[in-house]
Amino acid sequence: MFAKKEENRTEIGALGEFGLIDRLTSTFTNKNESTLLGIGDDAAIIKTNSDQQLVVTTDLLVEGVHFDLSWMPLKHLGYKAVAVNLSDVAAMNATPKQITISLAISNRFSVEALEELYSGIFKACERYSVDLVGGDTTSSPGGLLISVTAIGSSVPKKITKRSGAKPSDLICVSGDLGGAYAGLLVLQREKKTFLANPNFQPDLDGCDYILERQLKPEPRLDIINALSQKEIVPTAMLDISDGLSSELHHICKHSVCGCTIYEEKIPLDVQTINIAEEFNLDPLTLALSGGEDYELLFTVPLSDYEKIKTIEGVSVIGHIEEKKEGMHLINNIGQKIALKALGWDSFGE
Ligand code: ADP
Ligand code: MG
Repeated sequence: MFAKKEENRTEIGALGEFGLIDRLTSTFTNKNESTLLGIGDDAAIIKTNSDQQLVVTTDLLVEGVHFDLSWMPLKHLGYKAVAVNLSDVAAMNATPKQITISLAISNRFSVEALEELYSGIFKACERYSVDLVGGDTTSSPGGLLISVTAIGSSVPKKITKRSGAKPSDLICVSGDLGGAYAGLLVLQREKKTFLANPNFQPDLDGCDYILERQLKPEPRLDIINALSQKEIVPTAMLDISDGLSSELHHICKHSVCGCTIYEEKIPLDVQTINIAEEFNLDPLTLALSGGEDYELLFTVPLSDYEKIKTIEGVSVIGHIEEKKEGMHLINNIGQKIALKALGWDSFGE
């Protein structure tokens, strides 16, 4: 009765997540001079009357899409929902200060279950000195939805966008890559075996690190502090939520440049390599296309090389090129391979 027949229907999958956001938002223009940066980066940047600027970011986690409660304890889920937002604040080279939490919950959840969720939220707020200042609570016909908004601040000269990378800049990543996806592969495998035989004991030996990468990611605010101590301001930065390849495409698109990275320099944990082997996957694929590592990808001028070398847990994996050089990976036998954006896309295949 209400639905009109759609004559020119475009499937969401035809645009993909970023194409959809562009299509929906391209007609909006900012009207306030305090809006320094709007849609397109890890967070928006807002001018204030103090010496600090604000950054604002929001993320929505949906049961069945972003998490599966059969293997994700509610406490971890609460922690992770906060952590992934603080990661976007870190990606702006800013310090998180406040969060709001909005929930849609079905009556499948008890008060005690929601208290579990909030104990994880509390833990993340304590760990990163962030204040929970509001939110919204409503019912959901089915699953659980959690939306977190995070607000952070920094001085203008430190705030880092995706757009400042220049040819010859070094490309750096924190931590190691592909672990969160390796952890997800293990959890999905164990769930399948459990459903087939509920008496079965999960086999999680030797997977503790990658399971933690999946279940309890940490925003790399330690790296933000280390960069600040060494007086390094990255030329571009973002957090790796959708795989290295997809994030490098964002930097190259926003900074109008190309890049070369080296397979041998990409940091991988031994547990990630072992699980990749078990699943007949190349560990490189996990690093390039696996999601949810929440490490930082950033570029610094070549002149910062000596300083960046001294920061523990940062790897230099390549350098920025002119745009016309394109985006490439040099593999371990010296072949030059074009880097495709094979990241996680909510609406992709
Ligand atoms: P991230 O992966 O860093 O969380 P996203 O890929 O989700 O960022 O979003 C890319 C950009 O698009 C961000 O600036 C985000 O604020 C914006 N964005 C995402 N969804 C919407 C939407 N529905 N309406 C307006 N802006 C959006
Ligand atoms: Mg981000």
